[in-house]
Amino acid sequence: MTKMNCRQAATDLLGMTREALEELLQNLGEPRYRARQLFAWLHRGTSLDMMTSLPKELRRQLAAIARAGTLQLAYQEAAEDGAVKFGFETADGRLIETVLIPHRNRTTVCVSSQIGCAYGCAFCATGRQGFTRDLTTGEIVEQVIRVQTATRPQRVRNVVFMGMGEPLANFDAVVTAIRLLNSPDGLGIGARHIAVSTCGLPNSIQRLAEEKLQVGLAVSLHAATDEVRNQLVPINRKHPLAEVVNAARRFATMTGRKVAFEYVIVPEVNDTPAQARRLAELVRGMAAMVNLIPLNPADSSLRVDVDSAYRFAALLRKRGVEVMVRRSRGGEVLGACGQLRARHIKKASDERSPVRRSNALDSLGSVSDSPDMTEQKCEGGKGP
Ligand code: SAH
Ligand code: SF4
Repeated sequence: MTKMNCRQAATDLLGMTREALEELLQNLGEPRYRARQLFAWLHRGTSLDMMTSLPKELRRQLAAIARAGTLQLAYQEAAEDGAVKFGFETADGRLIETVLIPHRNRTTVCVSSQIGCAYGCAFCATGRQGFTRDLTTGEIVEQVIRVQTATRPQRVRNVVFMGMGEPLANFDAVVTAIRLLNSPDGLGIGARHIAVSTCGLPNSIQRLAEEKLQVGLAVSLHAATDEVRNQLVPINRKHPLAEVVNAARRFATMTGRKVAFEYVIVPEVNDTPAQARRLAELVRGMAAMVNLIPLNPADSSLRVDVDSAYRFAALLRKRGVEVMVRRSRGGEVLGACGQLRARHIKKASDERSPVRRSNALDSLGSVSDSPDMTEQKCEGGKGP
């Protein structure tokens, strides 16, 4: 059996709840309180052989049937502004990315929830890679643990699900991961410091509200009319704007939390005065704010256009909308999650076909006509 097959075959302890660990330990004839010790060691990023408060024999038994994590660091790249992108190889040999975003007194980790993504948004490198599989709870939690280990003594305070993939399409694994990250026996990251970003899956937004987790919700709107959103976010053809905004409105009411609308500025496509007017109407009376993000052009021919974002922000502010322009951090390492990976695996083809087209939308490439619409990336610089 190869090394990778071994990693795949064993149970990943990092994906297990305290209750599941208790059951496992009980089956091994151990007292329940050991589960708490094991959980704490695991979430501190300790390997089984270093868990010194556990009996040696137990550690040996555990090592025979389980693993404490499955990810291997494949690459790490730092940007001048302090953001660091980690590329991890999964047990089945895939690459995922995690971004560490340091702020003055806090650290944010942007995690991936899937390998690739089925939703194919026009400007997103992850979407262009297509969908491979959901990440497991253990793989999600481990990203945070690994970054926390790398950033000590600074504590990870925020986690945003804005990396590769659509978190609400991997609902159960994401929610369990949130509960594990939340646990005071582990990293103890407050739910209010965790944000889930979605391209807009109304049923799953409702389910998330019902989980009563107190996590933040970010909805990737990117356009204020169906006509424009259909072009940028293809899932809009199945769940149009009205449905998505209504779900967000219900989320805000049910949780008492302000919803963030993410809006990547695609110059001359979604930043017109008409879009500003419509966007202001959509969010009127709602506990919401709009985050404008200059498009990270990565592998298109466009340049980062911050001025357009500020112009659009002014239009929204005039209409009473709470709005922020979020500058991309980690831009030098291709800040949008998924894009560094795209560069690592797509370099040859990129070099063969430099893109030079006239219209901004054309430059992004066309969106798929038949995206996977079942309910089943990260701007590196984006924090909650
Ligand atoms: N699938 C989820 C979360 C991952 S994407 C979602 O779509 O919300 C996280 C954010 O990064 C989304 O708002 C997405 O639109 C944005 N994003 C993707 N590609 C980008 C790019 N090239 N430039 C700026 N933001 C981008
Ligand atoms: Fe998927 Fe989000 Fe990228 Fe859209 S923006 S393709 S939903 S990861």
